[in-house]
Amino acid sequence: MAFPEHVDYVIVGAGIHGMTTAWKLAERLQERGEKVEGRIIILDKAGVAAGASGVACGVVRNNYFQPAMRRLMAHSVEIWESDPKGLSYHPVGYLQISCEAMRDDVGTIFAQQQAIGYDSVFIEGANASTKYMRGIFEDWQAQGITSVLHEKRGGYSNQTRTMYALADKVEKLGVRIMTGVEVTGFESENGSSAIRAVETNKGRIGCERVIIGAGPWVRDFWKMLGLPDKITIKDYDGELRHGVDMWRYWQLEEGVLLLDPDLGRANDGSIPPVVHVDTDAPLYSTVDGSLITDEMWGIYYKPDWHFGGIQGGAAPYKVDKPADEVQVDPYGPASPEFVASPEFAHMWVSALAHCQKRYEGQMGKYHHEPSGGIGCFTPDSFPVFDHFHENATVIADSNHGWKMIGVGHLIADEVLGTTQELLEPFRFARFEKGDLHPVSNSPYPWS
Ligand SMILES: Cc1cc2nc3c(=O)[nH]c(=O)nc-3n(C[C@H](O)[C@H](O)[C@H](O)COP(=O)(O)OP(=O)(O)OC[C@H]3O[C@@H](n4cnc5c(N)ncnc54)[C@H](O)[C@@H]3O)c2cc1C
Repeated sequence: MAFPEHVDYVIVGAGIHGMTTAWKLAERLQERGEKVEGRIIILDKAGVAAGASGVACGVVRNNYFQPAMRRLMAHSVEIWESDPKGLSYHPVGYLQISCEAMRDDVGTIFAQQQAIGYDSVFIEGANASTKYMRGIFEDWQAQGITSVLHEKRGGYSNQTRTMYALADKVEKLGVRIMTGVEVTGFESENGSSAIRAVETNKGRIGCERVIIGAGPWVRDFWKMLGLPDKITIKDYDGELRHGVDMWRYWQLEEGVLLLDPDLGRANDGSIPPVVHVDTDAPLYSTVDGSLITDEMWGIYYKPDWHFGGIQGGAAPYKVDKPADEVQVDPYGPASPEFVASPEFAHMWVSALAHCQKRYEGQMGKYHHEPSGGIGCFTPDSFPVFDHFHENATVIADSNHGWKMIGVGHLIADEVLGTTQELLEPFRFARFEKGDLHPVSNSPYPWS
């Protein structure tokens, strides 16, 4: 097939957002009786799932302290539920298991889930929490837990399988995916800032609209679009803060314990809900009994037949460099700099053992292959979904994005002219206006 000279819609990035935007855009064009072939192209400098979407743990949850995030996730969960098999999605539910410092926040989340009709139960008190958890795992032994939020919806999906299924779906709808094509810049219309062409390492493609879903590379596209790398924020106390960095990176630490995933099953033999624990109980090494931390820590895990073991992660850490200096390529496990550390492995396996007896003394089974990846975060760690220069759309999910399978659908509708109320709280202007999302007591930048 020839290199295209012009298409209506150029989507940059063959990750979850690029793919789902193309999916809905193509369906909408078909519904209008318009042709799709030759009008939508996805460009990726590497390949399908080459970025964060290819390494994501795949957890899908609603548990967010921020009401706007919860509404958005409820919409996305409906899309996951619409085709579990086709999307390689396991609707096993999700457990937020917390210490006292987080009980009120999680109680608020529960109350608001009830208000939006999202199915969950909330258990409070140390004894009731232990009893509830032992009803799922008879070897549950975590101390200091005083609440359990059990989301009956959500679960996890198998990232690369989902991504290839989405690629197949969009190609059948008539979308062209071109890999090995690197976007290097944008050409503007004479006399306006609208983008009239995308410059690539293989040539120029004229277009009517550009949609960017570039995951950890969003920093580069922000620059290509001439958007500011320092911004003004009206803070929570109403003070204006000038010169705040637009982007920063965090390292996501994840790994696999190479045990038969069947060992992670629940008492009744079913695949259990994804477990997420946040606690301030002292954490001791499962190797030598030494104290690892007596500060707040958090982990999540699930038996995962796709990863071939017990897979999960812990709270991320900030990359201690200005965003401009962070080397994003090569990405993920191929990175010489940003992969999960030996300290992570020790902490995470010890934390598994802290929670369930079956994981005691299993450090030797940790899979020592490189894993994890970096994410690019906004100043308040929540997404920016917005349109710039008349015809350029940026999907910057601030690393919340695997679960957000519905965002591309909402973006597609906005691109076709219908503003989406669910996306409104995520506009770029919120920083200067002070419309920031509330902050929780979680140890994560994304809850
Ligand atoms: C270790 C890890 C675990 C995670 N776990 C979860 C989880 O369990 N649940 C959850 O909800 N989220 C999770 N996330 C976050 C989630 O993976 C991301 O938010 C999401 O995948 C981002 O999707 P995307 O489509 O924006 O970008 P990506 O999937 O990163 O795709 C961007 C694409 O853009 C391409 N690209 C970059 N530059 C160019 C260029 N110049 N020209 C052309 N193409 C270009 C890249 O090759 C890449 O394929 C995790 C992230 C990490 C790193």
